[in-house]
Amino acid sequence: MGLAMKMKEIIKKAHHVAEQFRVTNGDKFRLKDVDPGDTLGFTSEDKPRAKEALAAGVQALATFQDVLYAQDKWAVLLIFQAMDAAGKDGAIKHVMSGINPQGCQVHSFKSPSAEEIDHDYLWRCMKVLPNRGNIGIFNRSYYEETLVVRVHPEFLAKQKLPPALITKEIWNERFHDIRAFERYLTNNGIAVCKFFLHVSKKEQKRRFLERLMVPEKHWKFSAADMKERTFWDDYQNAYEEMIQNTATKHAPWHVIPADNKWFTRLAVAAAVIDTVAGLGLEYPKVDKDKWKELAAAKKALLNGA
Ligand code: ATP
Ligand code: MG
Repeated sequence: MGLAMKMKEIIKKAHHVAEQFRVTNGDKFRLKDVDPGDTLGFTSEDKPRAKEALAAGVQALATFQDVLYAQDKWAVLLIFQAMDAAGKDGAIKHVMSGINPQGCQVHSFKSPSAEEIDHDYLWRCMKVLPNRGNIGIFNRSYYEETLVVRVHPEFLAKQKLPPALITKEIWNERFHDIRAFERYLTNNGIAVCKFFLHVSKKEQKRRFLERLMVPEKHWKFSAADMKERTFWDDYQNAYEEMIQNTATKHAPWHVIPADNKWFTRLAVAAAVIDTVAGLGLEYPKVDKDKWKELAAAKKALLNGA
């Protein structure tokens, strides 16, 4: 198969996979309708084939990124949200493994610093939005403002907001503002693609236990993660409402089954490919003057310059 045909085939397959997990309108979205163990019918015997497909996808993504960088108009913002041990870091690492580090930045958002708390909550995210031609990755994001901050009201209390603004409407207001912000980004040429890696409580337990048993994984274990696990249902509700309220056509959520890492990575790669391919980018066309310049340089070099 020729290269162009191969790319077409990958784009088609990626679209097919991505579509199944994409939420563009949250009205009817229920988290319980998504099975964290779903693999679209692939079994663990298909794992080697899935790995091959991921490798092909990663390669295709490298080509897309090259075009994105060359045209220098659109940027892509990928947002990752998940419970602990759902595999955010691994998904980011694998899916982005083939791309040029010059055109990609990853930012992780932790508990806000004193300086960050002294600003509105979008401030720290806005400062690091991707440049045109680049892919920006947010490992956690402003969505934490509707998740951890909602599950733990003491975080909201520490935010230095004027008390009159803290009402029971605050979460709806945040959803509204985030929708408007993402509309603004899209209108400015920053394509937004969001991921929720949906892991089951049972699989999280298995992964925590693994962190406790395998010496190479000890460093990943944190007692704080254990504590958050006790708020599981509150988090699931917060995630569901977040998706219901902020899934839009221009900034869709992808709710990716996350109990099987090999499948999660494949599905994330598919959605990223589908997003970038959907921009319909091409290498910049060379105009007449540039063409003459290239021809002259070629001639000079061939003539021994
Ligand atoms: P890993 O554990 O894989 O290193 P992580 O994303 O869990 O990655 P941590 O340093 O463990 O990184 O956790 C970051 C913590 O910061 C999370 O518990 C998250 O909920 C919290 N956090 C992020 N944004 C906010 C926020 N705006 N307000 C309060 N807490 C936040
Ligand atoms: Mg953590």
